[in-house]
Amino acid sequence: LLGAYGSERKTPVYVVGGFVRDLLLNVENLDIDIVVEGDGPEFGKFVAEQLMIKYVVHEKFNTCSLFFKDGFRIDVATARTEYYESPAELPKVEVSTIKKDLYRRDFSINAMAIKLNQETFGTLLDFFNSKKDLEEGIIKVLYSLSFVEDPTRILRAIRFEQRYNFQIDEQTCEYMKKTVKNEYLEKVTGPRIRDELEKILKEPKPLKSIRRMGEFKIISHLFPFSYYTPTLDKDVEKLFELYGYFEKNYKQYTQNVRFLHLLLFVLLQYTPEETVKFIEYRYGLPGNFYDNLAEARESFEKLNELKHPQYSHFFDCIKILNSEQIIFVAVKLKENLREKLFKYFDKIENLELSVNGKELKDKGYYGKEIKNKLEELTKKLLNDEIKPGEERKYI
Ligand code: ATP
Repeated sequence: LLGAYGSERKTPVYVVGGFVRDLLLNVENLDIDIVVEGDGPEFGKFVAEQLMIKYVVHEKFNTCSLFFKDGFRIDVATARTEYYESPAELPKVEVSTIKKDLYRRDFSINAMAIKLNQETFGTLLDFFNSKKDLEEGIIKVLYSLSFVEDPTRILRAIRFEQRYNFQIDEQTCEYMKKTVKNEYLEKVTGPRIRDELEKILKEPKPLKSIRRMGEFKIISHLFPFSYYTPTLDKDVEKLFELYGYFEKNYKQYTQNVRFLHLLLFVLLQYTPEETVKFIEYRYGLPGNFYDNLAEARESFEKLNELKHPQYSHFFDCIKILNSEQIIFVAVKLKENLREKLFKYFDKIENLELSVNGKELKDKGYYGKEIKNKLEELTKKLLNDEIKPGEERKYI
């Protein structure tokens, strides 16, 4: 249909990028990006009016989004060449042809187009051997300065490599390493990096991507003083394992958790306070991120030092922590303590006091004393120092 409209308007219309890649890979992809050799927004508007659907023009990017009735969305762009006034900046845009438009893309596998105009419908445009790279499973940039122009492509390369179980091409690896070493990642704004990291974490197997980021020394360039050592790797692995366990068995603790925050607790656990504060600011983390990290660290250190850990100790630690901190503590506990922590969760969940605040108030307890007494009784019950139902004897 778009092709028919294109022919009517004498405008070449193409579907490009991720959709074409996934079509050839036989992978579902509902994000359709259209490029026209002509005026993208004007064409988008024309199509929207014909179909009587909603559209939004993004002047700045020279694009138009079409919103179909079933929630389905298509983006229409103008073929463009981007040029970069300085490295790692957002590009300036110029109108261009499809070939140049494809050349400015991140990797060869993302740089194919399929023509949609009726006369040539379905013609695959493959200027850069993309199909071959796709068949061989290779992630390859299209020109040597690609990563310098947009260092977020470094993270994208890893994401696609792990998603499709591909390999980053050798020369491309060299470019990546050089760009990382020359501190180009540091020039990118925090939110752009953060977006790419979040995308990596949404993939099915993020652990492998994080390891790969360690190999390329990306971690320490994104987070100064965080070196991806084998010790850190063990903690990251544990985090993934435990997070899955929490999701399956203790879902209430994962409800409001941002996985990126959890990962950063692990990655920044040895980073000096000042640097963590800088990272907090750069990536727009919550203002209390460092304090939460420090508090959680204190908790697991305290627990790990106990000779005879009791459930009441867990109670005291856990009651001041939020879910993100609790999961991080679980990662850092010694094996036997971790087991006890999960038993603690089971125990506290099934625990019910046979006295309540009102009863204590009637007995003359006042204000904070009530809370303290209830906690004391809870801890006694947890430690089996009193039997359920016998609480009244102790008030
Ligand atoms: P996904 O399946 O993750 O959505 P995608 O390839 O569709 O993958 P998008 O981020 O939606 O990824 O980008 C769409 C297309 O735009 C890509 O296929 C690529 O051609 C191009 N592109 C996106 N980001 C960049 C970038 N940083 N540099 C160059 N080209 C990019």
